Amino acid sequence: MESDELERYARHIVLREIGGTGQQKLRKARVLVIGAGGLGSPVLMYLAAAGVGTLGVVDDDTVSLSNLQRQVLHSTKSIGMPKVDSATEAVTRINPHVTIEPHPVRLTAENASDIISKYDLVLDGSDNFDTRYLVNEVCINLRKPLISAAMSQWEGQISLFDPSNGGPCYACVFPNRPADGLAPSCAEAGVMGALAGVMGSMMASEAIKYITGAGEGLRSQMLIFDALYGETRKFKTAVNTECSVCRGAG
Ligand SMILES: [Zn+2]
Repeated sequence: MESDELERYARHIVLREIGGTGQQKLRKARVLVIGAGGLGSPVLMYLAAAGVGTLGVVDDDTVSLSNLQRQVLHSTKSIGMPKVDSATEAVTRINPHVTIEPHPVRLTAENASDIISKYDLVLDGSDNFDTRYLVNEVCINLRKPLISAAMSQWEGQISLFDPSNGGPCYACVFPNRPADGLAPSCAEAGVMGALAGVMGSMMASEAIKYITGAGEGLRSQMLIFDALYGETRKFKTAVNTECSVCRGAG
């Protein structure tokens, strides 16, 4: 590492659980972030600041005014820009040592394997169930660990799905895809802006732990944060032996 990188990452390197070795692992890591929105914003900002060597970002959307209440990666002057372009600018501004790989597409059954196969770890902050179930399936097929978070109104949830190393997949925990219209979107239900900061930062924190091997991840556990009452709770999640998605994997 060059001396300016040693200085940049000094507060990580001094941590016993990360150190120089962990910082090198971060530098070598290739992380894919799905969605450059509310969750993706803090994820990309903190992983860039942390010196994750390569960050892929998938988003086919452009920045709109109603995004800015929570999508802090983007600014007023980026309205109308593709989110991946605005993300690239922001990440480069934070840390020029990070390589960012923009994927200005919507993930589909046709392109998902191709994109996901290029990365070691996947962080899903997407805003729809089609993408969530697809990402889960492709991650299982390619044996990629998946950190998945979601939020609505005042509450967020986060877990690590990594069935090839034990524990359930997303579909084990959520076997029934909500019918269209039953799970309201952020646009319909609303979401408190700073909740995205909390949940996205938790995703970045879990990613840094996964890459460096620090602490204990959220495998077989779901963490819920209720911003309205300032409460967190965790519950255990289990493999569904009837799961049609991951059964037989691992
Ligand atoms: Zn499963």
